Amino acid sequence: MFLTITTTGTPEHPATDLGFLLHKHPDRAQAFATSFGTAHVFYPEAEEERCTAALLLELDAVALVRRGKGKGRGGAPDAALAQYVNDRPYAASSLLAVALSKVFSSAMHGVCKARPERAAQRLPLRVEVPALPARGGPDLVRRLFEPLGWAVAVEPVPLDTEFPEWGDSRYVRLVLESETLTLSAALRHLYVLLPVLDDAKHYWVSSDEVRKLIRVGGAWLYFHPEVKLITNRYLSRRWSLTREAMERLELIRLAETDDSEVEEIDNAVEAETEQEEKPTPLAVQRREAILTALRERAAARVLDLGCGEGHLVRALLEEPRFTEIVGVDVSVRALAIASRRLKLDRMGERQAARVQLLQGSLAYTDKRLKGYDAAVLSEVIEHLDLPRLPALEYAVFGSARPRTVVVTTPNVEYNVRWESLPAGHVRHRDHRFEWTREEFRTWARAVAERHGYAVEFRPVGPDDPEVGPPTQLALFTLGTTETPTEKEAKAA
Ligand code: SAH
Repeated sequence: MFLTITTTGTPEHPATDLGFLLHKHPDRAQAFATSFGTAHVFYPEAEEERCTAALLLELDAVALVRRGKGKGRGGAPDAALAQYVNDRPYAASSLLAVALSKVFSSAMHGVCKARPERAAQRLPLRVEVPALPARGGPDLVRRLFEPLGWAVAVEPVPLDTEFPEWGDSRYVRLVLESETLTLSAALRHLYVLLPVLDDAKHYWVSSDEVRKLIRVGGAWLYFHPEVKLITNRYLSRRWSLTREAMERLELIRLAETDDSEVEEIDNAVEAETEQEEKPTPLAVQRREAILTALRERAAARVLDLGCGEGHLVRALLEEPRFTEIVGVDVSVRALAIASRRLKLDRMGERQAARVQLLQGSLAYTDKRLKGYDAAVLSEVIEHLDLPRLPALEYAVFGSARPRTVVVTTPNVEYNVRWESLPAGHVRHRDHRFEWTREEFRTWARAVAERHGYAVEFRPVGPDDPEVGPPTQLALFTLGTTETPTEKEAKAA
């Protein structure tokens, strides 16, 4: 089993930096023992202009069979390996992937102490695997690698060159080239996709594999058009694991959202806009505006949808009028932080009975969310891709249908007032969009119309005469054509 990685370079960025990036010196051949044989790393060429690292895996077939029968993961042997004659020693497969992750672990995680700036750089890369078992053939190979930014050259390997009439083997010769990837990304792609193409894992798949797949796959896997096929094959077609992985992949993207950053940015906006009096952070003003709306509507049972780390949940808990508070978020990490901050485990029984944290995605309808007085979506909608917004709309306004819904989102017009924000940038790296007042109102009015709500709008933060307030709030009320505020005005 054999794989090479080649890069080219210049006098400022010599190709031999590959040695630093892989943490393996180009002048030395090194050998590493693995539980199924020996992995050799050496450099067939190492010049300033061009450098190639080779990984050769010399398998111990006996060790493999023993390992499968003995104390291997889960202990169940792979049927294909329960014999001494098989293709494992010759073909690149999941074993090569395992060796890759073992020998080049730092590089895979993007760590390079000697050349940290290079680890984050995109490199010209060429990966060659002379014999890769590829179930699904050249077409699938292309479908797997091309969306990731690779130019793919793939040729089937004939069964026997002397007898072309025998046709092709299930092996291909694969050459991948890219100018747009970091070495770390390239290694992650190989680690996941080589076994996927082989489609015959060498050890029993456990839910530990889900964790590994998620860690190495992460964001690129989530956005891959073949994410389902990849996940399913990687997990040896165990559907329960595949489902678990698909769910966790969705979380991954969102778990990277850090709402403490939202507050930091809000504070920065605040520091710049209100210098005279002691400024109230925008996040605090936003919570106050939300609480005011909930009090006005006499809501007692409240959903905080996309509750993040639980700041609003905590504020709700401080007021006895809110008898039932449910925080929902898709990010397990955010919920864990919320739970710790709220000290849920040390709360008295009466308090604890008032609050619940649920993990779930707002892009799906959820029976648990039905029948509440009010739902809050504070700085949440802009974290969804626009095409997913109708799903959230239906889950909240169509299915959960609380009497009152409070939605807040940034007003993009206000961004020009924020000096430290470069022109054209959003306020948070996970924001999928930021709306003008007009865009938000158009959306909110259409939602209200579709689901039988009335809607009114309120500014949060200083309402600039030209660009409006930093945060915009929509207050929806079920089953009226007039908003309650309009009704009150009429009655008065
Ligand atoms: N409401 C909080 C947090 C806002 S950050 C506040 O006002 O400070 C956005 C939050 O929405 C994050 O915690 C993120 O995990 C969550 N989120 C994003 N998409 C979601 C989805 N589809 N389902 C549930 N929560 C989601």
